[in-house]
Amino acid sequence: MAERQDNFIVFGAPDIQQAEIDEVVDSMAAGWLGTGPKVKRFEQDFASYQGVPPDCVAALNSCTAALHVSLLAAGVQPGDEVITTAMTFCATANAAIHAGATPVIVDIDPATLNINPDLIEQSITERTRAIVPVHFAGRACEMDAIMAIADKHRLVVVEDCAHAIETEYHGRKAGSFGAYGCFSFYATKNVVTGEGGMVIARSPDATDRIRVLSLHGMSRDAWHRFSDTGYKHYQVVEAGFKYNMMDLQAAIGIHQLRRIEQSWLRRRDIWGQYQAAFQDLPIGIPTEPAENTRHAYHLYTITVDSKDCGMSRDEFLEQMTRAKIGVGVHYLSLAQHPYYVERFGWKTSAYPVANQFGLTTVSLPLSPKLSTDNVRRIIASVRKAILG
Ligand SMILES: *Cc1c(COP(=O)(O)O)cnc(C)c1O
Repeated sequence: MAERQDNFIVFGAPDIQQAEIDEVVDSMAAGWLGTGPKVKRFEQDFASYQGVPPDCVAALNSCTAALHVSLLAAGVQPGDEVITTAMTFCATANAAIHAGATPVIVDIDPATLNINPDLIEQSITERTRAIVPVHFAGRACEMDAIMAIADKHRLVVVEDCAHAIETEYHGRKAGSFGAYGCFSFYATKNVVTGEGGMVIARSPDATDRIRVLSLHGMSRDAWHRFSDTGYKHYQVVEAGFKYNMMDLQAAIGIHQLRRIEQSWLRRRDIWGQYQAAFQDLPIGIPTEPAENTRHAYHLYTITVDSKDCGMSRDEFLEQMTRAKIGVGVHYLSLAQHPYYVERFGWKTSAYPVANQFGLTTVSLPLSPKLSTDNVRRIIASVRKAILG
């Protein structure tokens, strides 16, 4: 059940089972709290799920960290520009800022809600270094078009796969197109470790650079100095960060990953039930997944526009909360946040599709933990709120 004592359906409730609890207890009993054997196992399991060599993945403590070190490893430097979508979580833009770059946002395609590839080229300048596409809600970006633009302009692509562990595009996994793919295991994501992230890189050397940047800038061997093969001195080769994953986190992830397909099937089923139940309502519902792609079904987003519903999005949020249903907003467009407006002068009118979506969107619960009854109640409550 994703319900609290008071029948409130929690948005994004993680599905934690006994196997995760036992594994965490095992780590605590063993005394391995920090980066150890379970992180290694989780990396191997994740690599195997993604179909990449085990020495091409690095587990970190968040996707934000993953994006940050990937942009640095990609050669992003102060003064560079990084192109991303106007419709994403702030962490995507903040990672570029922390790498010293200026984020440049591009409007979305109203059907896919992903960065509109037709608008990317006009934002490229001689300072552009990277493109960070975000597979929004788990729907694959148009990677053929994006990679063609990146190749033509010699730009690095870093994929924000925070919603997209299961996503595929034309038979290939999301995260395998760009130089780096960055994943999140935050508490509401498709696979959770509480806080956590992963980078997939294209070569063992590129992955080593990620590891060095993520552990104080200590030379590669530092990652092995915790083993029982004798004391090893470490050398600091650059000023790195403290972004490593703990065994306590990996302990949760190992069992989450074992159920990834089962959870995906459950979310796909709920997503389909919502699609069928809301066809006749005067609201916007998601576009069906594109041919030859696999949707990760991370978010189910509707749009509530007072022009069509006689009710504002915020009134709808209130009504759902009163009906004891946790809802989310993913997201206000980046151009709607004061920090970016002040610093970069972004104007919402320059990103009309993302702006309009940001003002009208609502995410409904899509956790695999939802019971049949929960889903029925959510559907009934949405219909009641909209139809009165
Ligand atoms: C959640 C999220 C992130 C950040 O992930 P963390 O693991 O919480 O750092 C980045 N980008 C997008 C699109 C996200 O949804």
